[in-house]
Amino acid sequence: MTRRIACKFGGTSLADADNIRRVAALVEADPQRRFIVVSAPGKRHPKDKKITDLLLLLHETARNGLDFTSVLAIIRARFEEIRAALKVSFDLESEFAEIVQRVPLEESRDYAASRGEFLNGKLIASFLGAHFVDPAENIFFNEAGNLDEARTYPALAASMSGAGRFLVPGFYGLDVAGRIKTFPRGGSDITGAIVARAVEADVYENWTDVGGLLMADPSIIKDAMPMREVTYLELRELSYMGAQVLHDEAVFPVRDPGIPINIRNTFDPDNPGTRIVPSRDPGGQPVVGIAGRKDFSAIHMSKAMMNRERGFGRRVLEIVESYGLSFEHMPTGIDSLSLIIRTADLKPHRRNLIKDIQGLLKVDILNVFDNLALIAVVGTGMAYHCGIASRIFTTLSDAGINIRLIDQGASELTIIIGVENRDFENGVRSIYKAFAPS
Ligand code: ASP
Repeated sequence: MTRRIACKFGGTSLADADNIRRVAALVEADPQRRFIVVSAPGKRHPKDKKITDLLLLLHETARNGLDFTSVLAIIRARFEEIRAALKVSFDLESEFAEIVQRVPLEESRDYAASRGEFLNGKLIASFLGAHFVDPAENIFFNEAGNLDEARTYPALAASMSGAGRFLVPGFYGLDVAGRIKTFPRGGSDITGAIVARAVEADVYENWTDVGGLLMADPSIIKDAMPMREVTYLELRELSYMGAQVLHDEAVFPVRDPGIPINIRNTFDPDNPGTRIVPSRDPGGQPVVGIAGRKDFSAIHMSKAMMNRERGFGRRVLEIVESYGLSFEHMPTGIDSLSLIIRTADLKPHRRNLIKDIQGLLKVDILNVFDNLALIAVVGTGMAYHCGIASRIFTTLSDAGINIRLIDQGASELTIIIGVENRDFENGVRSIYKAFAPS
């Protein structure tokens, strides 16, 4: 049976003509790769500029009434170089004439930002001989600025129903007022997922410049093992704590129909990468990944008979909400409660928030502890394996690390450990050693 593969290629994979040829070879190597989503050209080397950043600069310069010819020249030169090297006949001149005219008139940055994907899409579609599908005519946002699924999926499916290959630029769509609107930065991943859903793809291949998702942050664990398989939910728990290869929101469109995402490396195509799947058999690997983040504060409060006081929790959270703050965790004891909040978010409201909690809730003791790091140990299998928690605690105690907080999410997918900031890297290393497959 013929399968349908949706593939999205990131900015590094499309940074110049050589890389675009490499991508074209990958696409052509499999006739099932018919639904292609592209980013704007990214960095060719670490000091290079992404086209999207240059376009945002172009918009800002133009809106401030300043001379934007030099930034425009850099952007134009990059596309011209790609066009010439790929030998495609595409009228960049008139596209740039329109950009020059429109950018100074557009209040929002989105039109300018979207042109990197649009132009790269046009060039690559022409190089591949693929049908160009403009998101401005197929991907729609609703009043609230969210994806209008009811309009988008049928429109995309209809535009991509024939034979051949289809190319969709990532990152943008059309809002209710008929203006170009972009997704958040890195949003071509989201477009890829939307396209996969619209065409009912068997798999969404997300081609990037890494060999998949790693079990832990490589800046802490140098040779961290790749995850071969991770579920949507596990990934969510891990991405929320940091380290990102795939945009968070890219999971949502494919999660309901259960389309797997396969993270692949354009520069190492034989590597199977990481598969993000609806469910997996934890087998011998209950812990799939470890993620974490530093710089949280814990507000500890206790009050005699707190457990009997109706509405205490609600009132604490109302106070937190009144400052526009969100909390990460809320471990509780019989007469005590702690709120874990990012230190940077808490900082401007700290004094008033404490005053309110003391004044309105009449707590007996209230302390704030800073320099807290959270480590999330994630894995579907944890709920079914005894001894996971004890392994975590033993390894941390062997490393001389004091545990300040423990929280197990209701999903039983994650155990959160709070340690001092200074123990963070060491804690991650110890837990990794205890669980990485050998
Ligand atoms: N080009 C956009 C960015 O740099 C979107 C993307 O590449 O996903 O954020």
